[in-house]
Amino acid sequence: MCIFRYKIREERGETMPKLTFFYGVMNSSKSARALIQKFSFEEKGFSVGLLKPAVDTRDGGEWVRSRIGLCSPAHPVAPDEDLNRWYLHHPFDVLVVDEAQFLSGRQVEALYEVACASAPVFCYGLASDFRTRLFPGSRRLFELADELVRIEALCACGRVAQVNARIENGKILREGSRVEIGGNERYQSMCYRCYRRGLSGQTHGG
Ligand SMILES: [Zn+2]
Repeated sequence: MCIFRYKIREERGETMPKLTFFYGVMNSSKSARALIQKFSFEEKGFSVGLLKPAVDTRDGGEWVRSRIGLCSPAHPVAPDEDLNRWYLHHPFDVLVVDEAQFLSGRQVEALYEVACASAPVFCYGLASDFRTRLFPGSRRLFELADELVRIEALCACGRVAQVNARIENGKILREGSRVEIGGNERYQSMCYRCYRRGLSGQTHGG
């Protein structure tokens, strides 16, 4: 295990593992990238722990699935779970976390501690909710991550999408409960300009 970890550090040209946050809007291929990254490390002989906050129950809470068909079982992280303690019993070479916006601030701090001491941690998730406000988990990741990587997706007008708009009856909702998990029909990624104008997919004119 230690040799594997050392090899990862050496391969990445670093002396220490680190915490990386890949953030993007909905449908920007975050889950697919997380699964591909897991596969790539496993192909080289590293053990990879895949985690996903249990608040996301779309897939029974125990699977990471991408729209292009990739999937893998994941450890469902309970809202108050102590991830330092979990890692002590599951000392993987690498950790990959999907839907990381749903982690608590304390859980992000625990992952940071794992990244400092033992294994690189790659988190994938949304930055902000449909009200354009940061999720608590994402906020802590922006504060602590050693590396931030934006995964870009386009708005229907051609600009870079940055808002996950919640759509109901063709209109954008700006208030309501934060954690409401839905499919494509309820959320649409768009640029802030289109969000401000109140355009949904049906009326997009640019
Ligand atoms: Zn736009």
